[in-house]
Amino acid sequence: MTIVHDGARLRLSVFTGGPFQENTYLVHCVDSDRCVVVDPGAATPELVEVLTRAGLTPEAIWLTHAHLDHVDGIPALVEAFPVPVLLHPADLPLYRKAPDQARAFGLPFGGALPEPETTLSAEGSLTLGAATFEVRFAPGHAPGHVMFFEPNAGVALVGDVIFQRSIGRTDLPGGDTQTLLASIRQEVLTLPDATVLFPGHGPATTVGEERMGNPFLLPMTGGSSGRTLA
Ligand SMILES: [Zn+2]
Ligand SMILES: [Zn+2]
Repeated sequence: MTIVHDGARLRLSVFTGGPFQENTYLVHCVDSDRCVVVDPGAATPELVEVLTRAGLTPEAIWLTHAHLDHVDGIPALVEAFPVPVLLHPADLPLYRKAPDQARAFGLPFGGALPEPETTLSAEGSLTLGAATFEVRFAPGHAPGHVMFFEPNAGVALVGDVIFQRSIGRTDLPGGDTQTLLASIRQEVLTLPDATVLFPGHGPATTVGEERMGNPFLLPMTGGSSGRTLA
């Protein structure tokens, strides 16, 4: 576990593990001592230990999307803490297929997935104590992909939309490159440059860093990183 954001109100910790090195986030409002888990993946057993030791009970699981590596920790988490799972309705088919996908990869899947609440929508926001997260609909990597942006803390949990110097793959079922690029233009590049982006894989970055240096975004940002005009 690594604490990756320790603001006045909000503390974010990341737990990384499994063959996909997926990032599971614990989002903790320090004032109210309320917390949620975003995208419980392979590192969930370590997260459960940390929660138990700290005497913390999460109140929900928020999913950015329903790919296998972002949901395979749910059975272990809900066994320890029976909490609701929030998912965008357009990712429900992926969610239902996750255990089959695990079998196809020859990976263990530790139990049944509970029925999610498909209440996340583009206009929505989620409150966690003193923090309010905007739910931003950002399809392209997955049809029902959302991001969670907290403007006061200046943080966004972006799942597999954008990574440090990369973007989400679009060759999986329901993926579409032009849709993803439009999502990044409308939902990521419109955030303040200082916003810290916490992705589903790899290290955190900022909107400003990606605006300047993400090679996949150069056509839309006009950045000049490493590109020659010869
Ligand atoms: Zn994914
Ligand atoms: Zn992923």
